[in-house]
Amino acid sequence: MMDLKIFDRMESEVRGYVRSFPVVFSQARGSVLIDESGKEYIDFFSGAGTLNYGHNNPILKEKLIDYLNTDGLVHGLDMATGAKRYFMETVERVLLKPRSWNYKLQFTGPTGTNAVEAALKLARQVKGRPNVISFTHGFHGVSGGSLAVTANAKFREAAGVALGNTTFMPYDGYLGPDVNTIAYLERMLDDPSSGMDRPAAVIVETVQGEGGVNVATRRWLKDLERLCHQYDMLLIIDDIQVGCGRTGSFFSFESAGIRPDIITLSKSLSGFGLPMSLVLMKPELDIWKPGAHSGTFRGNNLAFVTAAQALDSYWTNSAFSDEIRRKEELVRDWLENLVHSYPGVGLSVRGRGLIQGLATPADSDVANQIAHKAFEHGLVIETSGANDEVLKVLPALTISDEQLKKGLEIIERSTGEVLAAKGASAHVLKFGGKRR
Ligand SMILES: *Cc1c(COP(=O)(O)O)cnc(C)c1O
Repeated sequence: MMDLKIFDRMESEVRGYVRSFPVVFSQARGSVLIDESGKEYIDFFSGAGTLNYGHNNPILKEKLIDYLNTDGLVHGLDMATGAKRYFMETVERVLLKPRSWNYKLQFTGPTGTNAVEAALKLARQVKGRPNVISFTHGFHGVSGGSLAVTANAKFREAAGVALGNTTFMPYDGYLGPDVNTIAYLERMLDDPSSGMDRPAAVIVETVQGEGGVNVATRRWLKDLERLCHQYDMLLIIDDIQVGCGRTGSFFSFESAGIRPDIITLSKSLSGFGLPMSLVLMKPELDIWKPGAHSGTFRGNNLAFVTAAQALDSYWTNSAFSDEIRRKEELVRDWLENLVHSYPGVGLSVRGRGLIQGLATPADSDVANQIAHKAFEHGLVIETSGANDEVLKVLPALTISDEQLKKGLEIIERSTGEVLAAKGASAHVLKFGGKRR
């Protein structure tokens, strides 16, 4: 049948997702993945948020093929090309002008962590201070600077060097519903004897994608922005996973009414799964010396072509946002219904837009087992959180209602099967154990 032997034999032990989904995929269309045996899977993973417009989106694919057929530049370092010009014109016309925003664009190396590295470097240069505030359960990438602001020990322990110049603070809700973590942060900043080195910046996700679908309230984000102004820190929103429409608006922080100093984008920016990253900075922060930060792959022109088309096709009016919010309701209802079907089990739902998490007891392995079962039933879905305790529902924003419901049905069925199996041996049951 499907031959996976070479992956075991040749690929480093570091490999990850191939272990969760041990088949060889051969085709992908919209929200469907197809393996070599012809089995179809609904995709509720979307390349960890890279495929917001689905696999091989036909509109984007056509643009891409047309561009290739004219021998348009594929690689351009940071030389000027027509594709790059059109991308910037489109960002200005579709994203910035309608919001009356003014940002300059830095094209970094193509992966998310490249954008985060550039953002942190810039913030430290601007403020002349090394320390940065990051949050518990935050994820910002795995290269040196980004890793230092990433919370998960699994990634940090792999560094092999000291990771410093970061102060971790509790994210919204980290200390339970009764503790205002902003007040805690404010106290630390306000007290010259708190032990915290004055930070140049704060880096934060509005919804923690890898950290367990933890959602910062709009109020919390607004207060965080206020603290940034008050204590002369730059606000960096890492919108790599939950930007590009994931939460309903193009930028995830829009509904909070904040204006970050620096924004990082990557994952779904090209719209087609092509690598591309971007740092948006307020113009007065652009103190880079020419060439001071570089990267061979800053000019993925194929990504510029599809990124511009994605903006043109989906973000020139509010129709797509409305659709995302409608689908959010559908998913939310379904998951809440599931939670109510199993009272006392310790399930809960959290999320914003089309990133929704089904949280299970932290010490139960239930989420992993549901994901595993779901895969058998034809659904690709991942877990997130410190203990992989949150089933992360991350469908393409363009998914049809039919496919969405089909995927949700598989979650419902898989959850039922996993919980029934647990119920069969009561001592394995650890429900009611520690909850986060
Ligand atoms: C995925 C991700 C990154 C890192 O992107 P890579 O392309 O994997 O380097 C950074 N920040 C957030 C919020 C992410 O989800």
